[in-house]
Amino acid sequence: MKHSDTVVIGSGLAGLMAALTSAKQGKKVTLLTTGAGSLSLNSGVIDVLGFDENHNFVESPREGIKTLPEDHPYKKIGVDTLEKAVEAFLDFTKEGHFPYSGSLDRQILVPTAVGTLKPTCLAPRSLNGNGLKEKQHIVVVGISGLKDFYGDIIVDNIRPLLGENHRYEVVTVESGLGGGRDITTMDVARWMDTDGGLETLASALKPHAAEGTVFLLPQILGTAGEDRMIALQDKLGAEVVETTCLPPSVNGLRLQKIFHGALMRLGVDLIEDTKVVRAVTQGKRCTAVVAQAAAREKTYEAEKFILATGGFYSGGITMREFEQPKEMIFGLPVWFVPGEENWSNEQLFSDKPQGFAKTGILTDENLRPVDNKTGKVVYDNVHVVGRNLGGYDFCFEHSGNGVALASAYKAAMV
Ligand SMILES: Cc1cc2nc3c(=O)[nH]c(=O)nc-3n(C[C@H](O)[C@H](O)[C@H](O)COP(=O)(O)OP(=O)(O)OC[C@H]3O[C@@H](n4cnc5c(N)ncnc54)[C@H](O)[C@@H]3O)c2cc1C
Repeated sequence: MKHSDTVVIGSGLAGLMAALTSAKQGKKVTLLTTGAGSLSLNSGVIDVLGFDENHNFVESPREGIKTLPEDHPYKKIGVDTLEKAVEAFLDFTKEGHFPYSGSLDRQILVPTAVGTLKPTCLAPRSLNGNGLKEKQHIVVVGISGLKDFYGDIIVDNIRPLLGENHRYEVVTVESGLGGGRDITTMDVARWMDTDGGLETLASALKPHAAEGTVFLLPQILGTAGEDRMIALQDKLGAEVVETTCLPPSVNGLRLQKIFHGALMRLGVDLIEDTKVVRAVTQGKRCTAVVAQAAAREKTYEAEKFILATGGFYSGGITMREFEQPKEMIFGLPVWFVPGEENWSNEQLFSDKPQGFAKTGILTDENLRPVDNKTGKVVYDNVHVVGRNLGGYDFCFEHSGNGVALASAYKAAMV
């Protein structure tokens, strides 16, 4: 039986941030996880709040949060803690030589793979599209054989957003990758890690570089950090900006990589391919969780447990029948929007939230789970973070990684 100060369950952004923050507080941390987490799917930029309850664009996330309803996770976390979480994250990415920038006061606009501009709060330099408007010449760069990136569509969609005073060009570069199969951004990013890949791309693009040029590329500038972006900019003498992309998300995996490195250095026991199946409790305290790995069960004792299992999307919460959502480890009460007719909109992309998306666990100010009816804390030493939390629709309001980051920071600090 293993004993730690803190056991974190799940290694998406919320679990990684909770483990990192706890370890930085000098705690002995065990991180138990199975599966990849959504950093391999999402672009790794930190949306704090892009749209309010009425789907109006939020210029300043700090101001926007004030308008949210009381049961929203940010209202429990508090803006001061959110601010500290943002600072801690910016410091951490700087230490990891993969610096993010941004603040709670202004959105960064990140170009997407279909040529829209997505608001986000914190982003690495390669994804920051705020300077695009000032550039005269925009060169959209495709890679032959790369799926889901079409230069002409990007130009058609981004032109009305940036204004008409720009000259556009679409260039397709031959990589020689794939051997007849479709290739992914990860294939190209690995090729860009090599000097040959970088040189080939730079030679193909150099003739298109001039004063005021920016190159808009898929997310391919290396699998780690920002070194390849800097190297390409130096060779071209021009700025380069990446778009978001469909999975696998190269940038999400770059972020995951620096988390893993830091956790190893801080002595966190990261145990992968381990599914936590139940909790051992005594009254209002959890004393241990039991995990399954390689057909064996193992018990992990701790003083504190942080539940970061990702809600519906990652199996932390399931629902076989309407009105019976289930949290899978502790059997915590799960809140949901009542009435099956309010469960979803027929339109997947609409200006109204999806009822099902708000399903999750309600908590007190310290993110401890509460009974939905009485409001009483269920376990004193269990804290719920990330997409397990109820009362918000991350997709509609663009707040997924922001809630993950801030709730994880708070759970680790209380
Ligand atoms: C396609 C997509 C794109 C997105 N894009 C963005 C974006 O651009 N910006 C943004 O801010 N947000 C985005 N989001 C939202 C964001 O990904 C999430 O809201 C946030 O990262 C959730 O993090 P999490 O750690 O709570 O959950 P997850 O990342 O889902 O991690 C949960 C982890 O827990 C593990 N787990 C589950 N059950 C157990 C168990 N029993 N034992 C052990 N481990 C377990 C899972 O395998 C997983 O590793 C996107 C989401 C999706 C799906």
